[in-house]
Amino acid sequence: MTETLASAVPPLIVFSDLDGTLLDEQYDFSPAKPALRLLEDRGIPLVLATSKTRAELATLRAALGGAPSLIFENGAGLALPRNGEPAVQIFGPGYAGILERLAALGSVAAPFEGFAALGAERVAALTGLDGPATAQAMAREASEPGLFHGDATALEAFRAALAPEGLRAVHGGRFLHVMPQRDKVDGMRTLAERLAPGRPTVALGDGENDRAMLEAADFAVVLPRPDGTHLALERTERLTLAPAPGPKGWAQAVPAVVQACFSLPN
Ligand SMILES: [Mg+2]
Repeated sequence: MTETLASAVPPLIVFSDLDGTLLDEQYDFSPAKPALRLLEDRGIPLVLATSKTRAELATLRAALGGAPSLIFENGAGLALPRNGEPAVQIFGPGYAGILERLAALGSVAAPFEGFAALGAERVAALTGLDGPATAQAMAREASEPGLFHGDATALEAFRAALAPEGLRAVHGGRFLHVMPQRDKVDGMRTLAERLAPGRPTVALGDGENDRAMLEAADFAVVLPRPDGTHLALERTERLTLAPAPGPKGWAQAVPAVVQACFSLPN
């Protein structure tokens, strides 16, 4: 009985960003397959942490086998498999609530043109996604990306108006994301506690929206960008710069960091 309980807690837990980290520019993760298998063989859970929607991840989750837990929409939502059923947790007012609050803000929110206002055709043109992928990107549950047509002063006023609503506006790629006061790191803390309490956390990422997660994890792996530059962190301990961008670097860095976790004193 004791043994069953002990072995139910995995030895460590891995949190990974997708774009530029586990996925390359063609959304391919195949170079990372040996490292993914290593995690599976060792019973180490992998949590995907992304700015994408849950709908955008459905195909990828299936391709990865099983249903890895998710931190989606940059931490505004969590999904974890429970008895085969995905349990979903949404933070903040939810998508409909965000749209309502934006509408209620009036002129201060006017420079913000969200996905809902842009419509499928313009979102497709802006993102270069095809029809089905656009629909998945627009299947928002917890945050609203969009364009901001105002200047710095207008953005400051917009942010000040969002704050009392428990919302913030953060840049991610070409869009400004209106979302609850959440970050990937909040998702990491919640899921580490639920899935691997007391065990070391490993985070992998390449972007600004991975920064807090990378600073907070026990072990951090930064993936370089294709041009060779990389995110600069404050931390210097237990920090690895992967030898290559995307899934190739992932494949090399993960076995080394797993080894380092296993050699920690208990
Ligand atoms: Mg990324």
